[in-house]
Amino acid sequence: MTAVAVSTLIASPAFGKTFFVKDQTAYKEAVKDISAGDKIILANGVWHDFEIVFQGKGKAGDPISLTGETPGQVIISGQSNLRIAGEYLEVSGLVFKNGHTPTSEVVSFRVDSKSLANNSRITQIVIDNFNQPERQEVDFWVMMYGKNNRFDHNHIVGKRNKGVTMAVRLNTEQSQENRHRIDHNYFGPRQILGSNGGETLRIGTSHYSLSNSFTIVENNYFDRADGELEIISNKSGKNIFRNNTFYQSRGTLTMRHGNNNIVEGNVFFGNGADHTGGIRVINAGQTIRNNYMEGVKGTRFGGALVVMNGVPNSPINRYHQVKDAKINNNSLINSDNIQLAAGSDTERSAVPIDSTFTGNLIFHENAKDVFTVYDDVSGIAFADNVLSPMEPPEFAKGFRRETVTLTRADNGLLYPESDTQAGISRDLNVTQKQDVGVSWYTKSEPIIAFDSGKTIQVTPKAGELFAAIAAAEPGDTLVLKRGDYVVSKFLKITKPLTIKGKGKVTVSFERSALFEILNGGSLKLSNLKISGKTAPDNAGNSVIRTSPYSMLENYRLEIIDTHFKDIDINHSFNIISAAKGTFADNILIKDSSFKDVTGAILKLDKESDDYGIYNAEYLTITNSVFENVQGALVDYYRGGTDESTFGPHFKLTQSKLINVGGGKRNKSGASIHLHGVQVTNISDNVFDNSKAFLINHTVGEPKTNIFENSFINTPQPKNFELNSGLEPTAIIKNNLVVSQ
Ligand code: CA
Repeated sequence: MTAVAVSTLIASPAFGKTFFVKDQTAYKEAVKDISAGDKIILANGVWHDFEIVFQGKGKAGDPISLTGETPGQVIISGQSNLRIAGEYLEVSGLVFKNGHTPTSEVVSFRVDSKSLANNSRITQIVIDNFNQPERQEVDFWVMMYGKNNRFDHNHIVGKRNKGVTMAVRLNTEQSQENRHRIDHNYFGPRQILGSNGGETLRIGTSHYSLSNSFTIVENNYFDRADGELEIISNKSGKNIFRNNTFYQSRGTLTMRHGNNNIVEGNVFFGNGADHTGGIRVINAGQTIRNNYMEGVKGTRFGGALVVMNGVPNSPINRYHQVKDAKINNNSLINSDNIQLAAGSDTERSAVPIDSTFTGNLIFHENAKDVFTVYDDVSGIAFADNVLSPMEPPEFAKGFRRETVTLTRADNGLLYPESDTQAGISRDLNVTQKQDVGVSWYTKSEPIIAFDSGKTIQVTPKAGELFAAIAAAEPGDTLVLKRGDYVVSKFLKITKPLTIKGKGKVTVSFERSALFEILNGGSLKLSNLKISGKTAPDNAGNSVIRTSPYSMLENYRLEIIDTHFKDIDINHSFNIISAAKGTFADNILIKDSSFKDVTGAILKLDKESDDYGIYNAEYLTITNSVFENVQGALVDYYRGGTDESTFGPHFKLTQSKLINVGGGKRNKSGASIHLHGVQVTNISDNVFDNSKAFLINHTVGEPKTNIFENSFINTPQPKNFELNSGLEPTAIIKNNLVVSQ
């Protein structure tokens, strides 16, 4: 090979050498002998399969830097990553997208276990959807090792596979007491993972959690960081979490392990969204002051403020007792749950001690009693807390009721008009979305809504629907003119689309499924009549199924005013079958009917490994009729015994089940089969001549309510507690039972 690595060397004696490199060979040459003050610039363009090793020794005030020619125009794609080691290094201006790391980390503050980075900075980089192709394959996007490093003004968005987005490691002495700074980053939307391992930021691990980290996490913006129930998992000591904004993010800042941390000046906007949380306090010496929560709706461990019970002489990976906690001058506005001595049970019996809870302002416009007290809280001294308009709680003194009127100040937060002393300071600095990340990369919305695009007319002519689906843009609506549509190919859905009938539209199909939702796809059906009559005479057809391969992107499925019949050409013909490795954010069935089905309406039971993974977060069915269904209305399965997910959720209202679940191939023998579902509401339905429900509770404290239904010739629901040893906890009341 005769090619010589070429880089343009620009002399600038006072500030070191600048290498402008156009390919990987030139980069490797340039990096060989860089020293303090030198700079490597990567040319604009796409750098494919580029494993960047950036190693050198700069000096304080005279770092070695690696940067892109023009911010936003240097794309690192394919199988790529960045590893840095040495002293005083600075990396900026790179965009990681359209690829994934071949190692377990995208950006690492070490080259190998012996070569770490210290006194170094990564700033103004973007990592956008740089995911492993398999959603259950674990990797980490940013891993900090070494000491005195800074990660700031970066844009991190769209982690969809398993694994913490960013972590600080304390696994060797060289990485402990590290004094890192993580600031002004945009942690953009992270979709619900549907299992453990979806945290956005973790500092430490339980194993080294008694070591101090001295990491400062400040002025970051967490935008819908929904992955799992920990947004931040703190697992080390002496960290500061300051002035971060948590915008509509499910989960909490969890002080899971480690002592003497400070959490102050953080803002949590729940916007009334499900499972938005605040701060969860565990361990000794934690300070929680001057934090603001508004519209935070989380319950249980995911509440606005949760103080846990500990385990006496706890092993390092369980729950250490709360002591010396200082919970002062926080404002909790229209936030539903403050949980004290939470998690109290025979194991977690060590109540909080030597702690204070003073000067907090708790306002709830619905006068909701926000406190739940699970055990003795005499170890917490309550003083000077103000409630409005609720009455003071009965479990302790130290609360007074005031009539508080709130107004929104220039910083966007609500303050009392009167000079109430309780709550946050007037000068709290709120980190805004536009102040974080980089200015040259768009903070785009994570989801394209149904019916947000253009409308396309479709006629029943053979092949026209297929072609229209292929040509449509995300968010488009296909309006089907009246007539009979016979579909001869799989309709593959790779973008959010609505398919809507105008007048009487009947759709039949000749393959083993009508629709296949593939990665990136979401589907809304409206005003259609779907028949299974022309489907192949084979067992195991579906009307709608998901990709047989792992889908990184969560999907949505809505079935509205759509009527299914003759789903019975052969046995086990399901309406909706979800494959392993696919996850629905939301499945909605509304104003629809289903008649003569030989399989199940919904098969959401393919994650059968008991790893705590499941197929759908929310399943909601309302005002629909199911008649002569041999399988179950739903087989919904979430195995495993970890407590890392909020879902699955199941809601069934105002619907009628007639002769459901009685087929001989229905393995559970149930009309509704829920295993490990966390939140269930079944109310105002009629069950006629159907099999009993089977509800298995496996983890956590699942909430199951079965109210105001009519059971006609249908046995009562069966609820089993598989692991807790409790009596059945489902609340089954005000139902009408009729046998004829
Ligand atoms: Ca977790």
